[in-house]
Amino acid sequence: MHAGDRPSRTTPPRPLDVESLFPGLAAHRRAATRLHPRPAAPGVHDSHVGGPLLWPADDPWPICTVPHRGAPGPGPLPLLALAQLHARDVPDLPAGPDGCDLLQVFWCPFDAHGPTGHGMYVLTGPGPMDCDACTGAMDLLLTVATDEWDTDSRSWIPQEDGPRNPTGVVVGNHGRLNIFACPRNPAHPHRFSIQ
Ligand SMILES: [Zn+2]
Ligand SMILES: [Zn+2]
Repeated sequence: MHAGDRPSRTTPPRPLDVESLFPGLAAHRRAATRLHPRPAAPGVHDSHVGGPLLWPADDPWPICTVPHRGAPGPGPLPLLALAQLHARDVPDLPAGPDGCDLLQVFWCPFDAHGPTGHGMYVLTGPGPMDCDACTGAMDLLLTVATDEWDTDSRSWIPQEDGPRNPTGVVVGNHGRLNIFACPRNPAHPHRFSIQ
């Protein structure tokens, strides 16, 4: 999957003015970039979902160290590369620690799809997400959604094409994984929620 010099996708105009219907939402308005990964053969230097990651040969590959029921053996498991995104391809991507401009996302397959089933699935409504390091409010950094659009609101289908689940990635019970970052210090630990 690939995201750089490909044709962009257009989200149709919103069918309703949500902020006039629910004025309380206006304070939560934020710019966001919708990513539309499509099957392709990305290179290691491209932004993409899945595919080869740019990773230093001398650095150990990230591992998951929590115990896994039903894992193929004891000991840590290598994490799966979920995505890498260059700031040049995602205009709103905040800078990382030391001004880093490449976001790489790994996850543990046993937490998402493992033999433990969907025990991790929780529904979360609006609520505070505060930084463990400085206790300030965190910002949503990235949402990994199972589907690009849902059948209740087809207005989110891009004008150019409309695959619903082009990546084949399924989060929890066909939901979404939200990754939060601290806007005051990007080195503070990320937090997560699954909806
Ligand atoms: Zn794990
Ligand atoms: Zn913080």
